[in-house]
Amino acid sequence: MSKKDENEAFKNCAACKKALLMQRRYYRNNAYYCNNNCFQNKQKADAEKAEADAAGAAV
Ligand SMILES: [Zn+2]
Repeated sequence: MSKKDENEAFKNCAACKKALLMQRRYYRNNAYYCNNNCFQNKQKADAEKAEADAAGAAV
């Protein structure tokens, strides 16, 4: 397995970017979060970004 580079991305929360402790990380949708609250925040941010991208693509 040569996934060291990818693993680097999993050391921080995908929402707040805080460093994650191995035993406390929260895995959802191929990304790690510190808790469910950060997961919900990221989902919301991604949804807003998707809307903005869709609006931009429609122009
Ligand atoms: Zn977080």
